[in-house]
Amino acid sequence: MTEKIKQNAEPDWSEYRGVLVVVEQRDGKAKPVSWQLLGIGRKLAQKLEVDTLALVMGHDVEHLAREAVYYGADKVYIADDPVLKHYRTYPYSRVCLELFRKIKPEIVLFGATYTGRDLAGAIATHLPTGLTADCTMLDVEPPPSRLLLASRPAFSEKMVATILCKKYRPQMATARPGVFDALPRDPSRQGEMIPFPCPVKEEDVAARVIDFIQDEQRVNLEDASVIVAGGRGLGGPEGFKVLKELADALGGEVGASRAVVEAGWISHDHQVGQTGHTVRPKLYIAVGISGAVQHVVGMQNSDVIVAINKDPNAPIFKVAHYGVVGDWAEIVPAMIEEVKKR
Ligand code: FAD
Repeated sequence: MTEKIKQNAEPDWSEYRGVLVVVEQRDGKAKPVSWQLLGIGRKLAQKLEVDTLALVMGHDVEHLAREAVYYGADKVYIADDPVLKHYRTYPYSRVCLELFRKIKPEIVLFGATYTGRDLAGAIATHLPTGLTADCTMLDVEPPPSRLLLASRPAFSEKMVATILCKKYRPQMATARPGVFDALPRDPSRQGEMIPFPCPVKEEDVAARVIDFIQDEQRVNLEDASVIVAGGRGLGGPEGFKVLKELADALGGEVGASRAVVEAGWISHDHQVGQTGHTVRPKLYIAVGISGAVQHVVGMQNSDVIVAINKDPNAPIFKVAHYGVVGDWAEIVPAMIEEVKKR
């Protein structure tokens, strides 16, 4: 039921405290965005002089609560129950709503993933606070205002809109994976672990999840540790078969520039950049990509960037740690051969 909105009342939000990160996991493995959110969440919490909180939901997920502490949480709420083994909107959103009512967090952050968007959206329909989706910048105004400054691209990425939630709490946002830095994992950190009962029983849930089957075709750029990305310099869609071979040999995924997505050489879910995915793999290999600013904003935080381009003045070399000047059609097959030998 939607909570009552008190019209014309001066809001007093003093009982709402803490920045809460909703940790996302699948099969007991956390999504990297969860630790990235704890990184930014902790910065916000320090500015507001409050605790960094985390919520871990699932079954047999106590180890993730410990990880959340190592990545910056002061207190972790654990809803551990067989009902929560697989993500389902109803039980997960009920846990969140019950917890929010009980502990009254000032700010709640979710990953802007398929699951995070679904969950945050479902919760927002039960609260009067709304939700700022897909944020790429998060900050807070210092006390007494304590407002979350949630910024996201708007108007076809032509401007950045900062959205404020002035009247209600908690202030909620989903944040794009790969944009914020996780803190270094620190196993010496201590935190409080607090069990939180799941308010839903299996018989109350209409949907049953039998199993998850990984779609072989599905691209998972945000979690990939290696990305081999291709641009217009490939000369046509056939070039992506060669890039896929290199990506497979390195255990990675194939990315792309917008130019080739628009040309129909590869699907949009491969696109890296301002209007695609923001990624931060350990290794990003840019093949035949010029390095336009809209592409670079999506990959510049990769640990190691290798650029292959026949133009020595291509802007991509300015962000690359290693550059190879030459024709990709000669260089990439030689790399595949070398990687396969190892
Ligand atoms: P090009 O700029 O044409 O570069 C091709 C490169 O390949 C050249 O540097 C060339 O030297 C090299 N090359 C050619 N032949 C070879 C060869 N045989 N071997 C090696 N190298 C070779 N772009 C994105 O990528 N992602 C986005 O999210 C994105 N969002 C945008 C949003 C807006 C609002 C706008 C206006 C633009 C956006 N763009 C985005 C487009 C961006 O500005 C560029 O047009 C695009 O990134 C260029 O793609 P490209 O590097 O593949 O092609």
